[in-house]
Amino acid sequence: MPLYDIQPLKIYNSLSGKKEVFEPLNEGHVGMYVCGPTVYSNVHLGNCRTFMSFDMIFRYLRHLGYKVRYVRNITDAGHLVDDADDGEDKIAKRARLEQLEPMEVVQRYTVDFHNILEKFNFLPPSIEPTATGHIIEQMEIIKDILQKGYGYEVNGSVYFDVVKFNETFQYGKLSGRKLEDMIANTRELTAQDEKKSPQDFALWKKAEPQHIMRWPSPWGDGFPGWHLECTAMSTKYLGETFDIHGGGMDLKFPHHECEIAQAEASFGHSPVRYWMHANMLTMNGKKMAKSTGNNILPGEIFTGENNILSKPFSPSVVRFFMMQAHYTSILDLSNDALLASEKGFHRLMEALDTLEVLETGRKSDFDLEPWKRQCYEAMNDDFNTPVLIANLFEAVKRINLIKEGKESISQSDKLELTQTLNAFVFEVLGLEQQKEGNGASNKLSGVVELLIALRDEARANKDFPTSDKIRDQLAILGIQLKDGKEGTTFSVS
Ligand SMILES: [Zn+2]
Repeated sequence: MPLYDIQPLKIYNSLSGKKEVFEPLNEGHVGMYVCGPTVYSNVHLGNCRTFMSFDMIFRYLRHLGYKVRYVRNITDAGHLVDDADDGEDKIAKRARLEQLEPMEVVQRYTVDFHNILEKFNFLPPSIEPTATGHIIEQMEIIKDILQKGYGYEVNGSVYFDVVKFNETFQYGKLSGRKLEDMIANTRELTAQDEKKSPQDFALWKKAEPQHIMRWPSPWGDGFPGWHLECTAMSTKYLGETFDIHGGGMDLKFPHHECEIAQAEASFGHSPVRYWMHANMLTMNGKKMAKSTGNNILPGEIFTGENNILSKPFSPSVVRFFMMQAHYTSILDLSNDALLASEKGFHRLMEALDTLEVLETGRKSDFDLEPWKRQCYEAMNDDFNTPVLIANLFEAVKRINLIKEGKESISQSDKLELTQTLNAFVFEVLGLEQQKEGNGASNKLSGVVELLIALRDEARANKDFPTSDKIRDQLAILGIQLKDGKEGTTFSVS
């Protein structure tokens, strides 16, 4: 029986505000769409957290045996500077400032995005479509919305008629807003405004002569509105209704609200069964923002080149730090928090190394079944990684007790424990044994452990010249031995 049948997976659905049992549209298959980055600058660490949350969700769904089609787009056109319908296109603006072609900007920052995600050990999505690659699909949806009477054309631009839509459907249901309140709280339209109501949003914008990113359309040369691309790409690859739509909390309104409106206006029904939103990352208790300087790039964490850090941190330590919080909670990044995560991460990795060489006995003191069930229960409870990690540390504790000879484990339990830990640590949480810092390969670890054992023997025989030689020669190679209460440990510099 598959694991997800034993304990049903529950997902917090932002639309209903409740945890719901996850029932995919097609048994055994999951369609998941996540709003990707707008590639006009280096990827933000906060965005990395959002994508990492969905990478973990993708990994766990696959671990449960689902066949997952995961679509994460690249926004390379249509996203305007003020996130609404005014201002310059973010990519075109950057291109102008850097004297590049817009597609050079797109290429540069798409490569940066992929490089950073690879360092964090992300799995690639099944499809990574671009907005510019789906202009025709977007125009088709606009035609459909116009034909159904939920859009109107003014001077070469097309807008979505929110008031008309709200007569039949409900605009604002995802973000818990009422249209009347929204209209009451926004400024009055002026004579220059093309929109009928301030809540209307652009499906297609007329391109001014200086606008470089433009496409011919039935309404003249222009470009698609930002919200439209996600409706076009999600439904093209996942169908008019699909299982999971994710993104950062900040996209709930207006972006996701508009996606729902576009799909309902066009298809007549709700596009998404489970809406999931990942929460933000703060730094030293404050919102991260480039303008205030309270900001850090992923690359700066890996090199330690930022004032808030006392040292560099490896991508796996940062990943472990992020996984220690639930994806719907705000997480605060600080040097102390990263140091604590690094310690925990090393303890976990050391326990995995210890487990590999653990001697087995006839019986087991560690009852694996309830422990394993708790691990799955944590993850099936809306992907609760902090509770999962607490359970993993219960296993770390037991491994160390077995190592000290205070408990024992049978051969078959050792195998099962190894398999389960490997599955959660590497496959689901996506952590990696470190390549740098303390990250010696298993083979090197084995050799050093052997030398430590020989040194212990030499010391026991009071052969200090030999024991010192082993320590000093290792130090020359950059391997430091440290003698402590629980024996000798080593680190690689
Ligand atoms: Zn989107």
